[in-house]
Amino acid sequence: MSSSNASVDVQIIGGGPVGLACAAWCLQKFPELSLHLIDRNPQNDSDIVASDTRGIALSHGSKLLLDTINAWPSDSCAIHSVHVSHVGQFGRALMTREELGQEALGHIVRYRGIHLALRESLRQLQKKAPHFVWQHTGSDEVQDRSRARCIVHAEGGLFTQQDWVESGRDYQQSALVGLVEVENAQAHHAWERFTSEGPLALLPSHHGSNVLNMVWCSSPTTAERLNGISDADFLHELQSTFGSRVGQFKSIRDRRLYPLGLNYRKEIVQGNEVWIGNAAQALHPVAGQGLNLGLRDAYLLAEQLSDLFSKQTHVTKSRNAIDNTLYEYSLSRQADRKATIGITDFLARVFTSPLAPVIAARGAALSLLQWLPPVKTGLARQMMFGRR
Ligand SMILES: Cc1cc2nc3c(=O)[nH]c(=O)nc-3n(C[C@H](O)[C@H](O)[C@H](O)COP(=O)(O)OP(=O)(O)OC[C@H]3O[C@@H](n4cnc5c(N)ncnc54)[C@H](O)[C@@H]3O)c2cc1C
Repeated sequence: MSSSNASVDVQIIGGGPVGLACAAWCLQKFPELSLHLIDRNPQNDSDIVASDTRGIALSHGSKLLLDTINAWPSDSCAIHSVHVSHVGQFGRALMTREELGQEALGHIVRYRGIHLALRESLRQLQKKAPHFVWQHTGSDEVQDRSRARCIVHAEGGLFTQQDWVESGRDYQQSALVGLVEVENAQAHHAWERFTSEGPLALLPSHHGSNVLNMVWCSSPTTAERLNGISDADFLHELQSTFGSRVGQFKSIRDRRLYPLGLNYRKEIVQGNEVWIGNAAQALHPVAGQGLNLGLRDAYLLAEQLSDLFSKQTHVTKSRNAIDNTLYEYSLSRQADRKATIGITDFLARVFTSPLAPVIAARGAALSLLQWLPPVKTGLARQMMFGRR
């Protein structure tokens, strides 16, 4: 590509949460930016309203970022405490917002809720952005990349659906998600229970304290079986795996399966192209970090791009200046990516291992976490705000 005949400064490919957030922050910081967003989702929201209802845990840090563009979904629920334990083993840890001195440890939103809120935020910013083009394309449409000075990849995707594989790990895990109604849950409280096959999380929802978002990770065979059995059989298995801490499990709806694994790019920049969000790294949801990390990618990239292009000189639009800016961006993301990918991979491996010494060690680690507050708060802060 020659930057001299390019007709758009920035092209973002992918209209998922991370691509939309990046576009919105770019325009908020520099409304005059010549920006092209390629979105496979139709202009009308109706498909998204009817789609992905999975609960997503967003950190308080992500909420603060999204608040800057009025993109916080109305149907969210704050987490005030998290209880981590181990089925059939010793060791447990409890984390509360008071210990961390924060308003909330995190928030549960739905994928579609965050998607819709970001679309609406971008529509508002679009009104004052004369050089922004939001193009809705079909999935098989060929995209012209020769017209852009800088290309941002935000195509996202789930682990086994990505058309690139670089570094990573197949944990042989799938997640079964759904909404469960229980008899007696504590409001704003989240449970993470480690089973012999993987983590089982019950997270609060905006539907009231007795309706919880379930994310149950297990081997793909088990997950598929659990997805196929009747509601009554499913609730019976869930009850015997989770136990009685929330009383009786009364109903389950919206069961959906997701493949899980780790796939990440070592290099997130190549010349004038940059990869963010799941297009840069797909993570196991054990620590609820994928979208949080992707939003930090989007925010920091938007800051650098808007700063570069707002100078509006010939030099700042040169290929060299763009390549250098992206290179600087990739350096600035190294520590956060490394820590978040590393912690998530560690937890996913430790909490899915069937080996007896590992099982004993993880019980001890949970107790240690409980009795060493600085370690607990240090870990929680990394999860809430990332490494800057
Ligand atoms: C079961 C499960 C639970 C999770 N829980 C959490 C959690 O609790 N907390 C958390 O932070 N994260 C969580 N995640 C991770 C989170 O869902 C992802 O990190 C997040 O969706 C990434 O957003 P994205 O925009 O990068 O990608 P995506 O959400 O995959 O969106 C990408 C978009 O780009 C579009 N697209 C693809 N190719 C093209 C193209 N060529 N042109 C145009 N458009 C294109 C797609 O149609 C899609 O709309 C979870 C994931 C799973 C599977």
